[in-house]
Amino acid sequence: MRPLPGRLVLLGHPVGHSLSPHFQNAALRAAAIPLVYEALDVPPARLPSTLAELARVRAAGNITIPHKRAVAAACAHLTPQAERVGAVNTFWHDGEALVGDNTDVAGFDALVRSVLGQLPATACVVMLGAGGAAAAVCAAVAAWRDARLTVVGRTPERVDALRRRFPEIHTMAASPGLADASAVLAEADVVVNATPVGMTSDTHPIPLTHLRRDAAVMDLVYRPGETAWVRAARAAGHPAADGLEMLIAQGAHAFERWFGVPPDVACMRAALAA
Ligand code: NAP
Repeated sequence: MRPLPGRLVLLGHPVGHSLSPHFQNAALRAAAIPLVYEALDVPPARLPSTLAELARVRAAGNITIPHKRAVAAACAHLTPQAERVGAVNTFWHDGEALVGDNTDVAGFDALVRSVLGQLPATACVVMLGAGGAAAAVCAAVAAWRDARLTVVGRTPERVDALRRRFPEIHTMAASPGLADASAVLAEADVVVNATPVGMTSDTHPIPLTHLRRDAAVMDLVYRPGETAWVRAARAAGHPAADGLEMLIAQGAHAFERWFGVPPDVACMRAALAA
């Protein structure tokens, strides 16, 4: 086990909705680690002073919206994964130095394995959304053998930014509602929702009628009882899962970075189920 950080925190704005404290605290208790994982609501203007305060106690933790890119820029060292994505969701201190990693990439691979049993050797992947989580999906898919990825986003500048970071992917900008994407969706083996659509309503990010019957449906959004899109996809015969498996896997990888030992994942799952 590594020397313990002085504090373990989640930085975001807002953070009240986050499930991470529930399952990370369960894993800390199971491992008898004397720390409490705290969610800190940090408005962007207070991020620099918060990071300075956390450096004094060599804190570790997670980063969520809207700070993932700003923290990447503040890090003294980035892991190759964080460098590739351009965003940090996990951090710790090496002495005084802030180190950033991105475990959403491994989290997405875990989600895919949970639906398909393995990472596909060849696959045509279509992803909706071009934000931070989308960049992690790009990094994951780019590392698969022979996968093709099309990113469909509604803001051309964000779609272009992903294309510059991942020149190997194909991108297309679509009108709001992503309706123009029907031709490309019809080719997809795997369809990924990396927008927040479906988080607070039963709206589907795209109609399932655009997809082939055997296309796998993966939603990064998670809700109690799954998202309406995932429930409808499964009812229509698609292999499908929401973002819960990704959430657990990114958290388990983060735990291992902080402490050098893997967490009790069954206990994390049980805490979420409760
Ligand atoms: P983000 O950086 O804000 O990006 C969101 C993307 O979705 C942007 O491309 C945005 O387009 C697009 N979008 C937003 N509303 C839309 C709409 N109504 N129609 C079409 N596109 C829309 O957020 P993020 O960090 O990538 O997170 C995206 C989702 O993934 C969130 O729900 C988050 O909770 C989830 N997530 C889950 C996990 C997990 O572990 N399961 C991990 C990370 C993220 P514009 O740029 O045009 O606004």
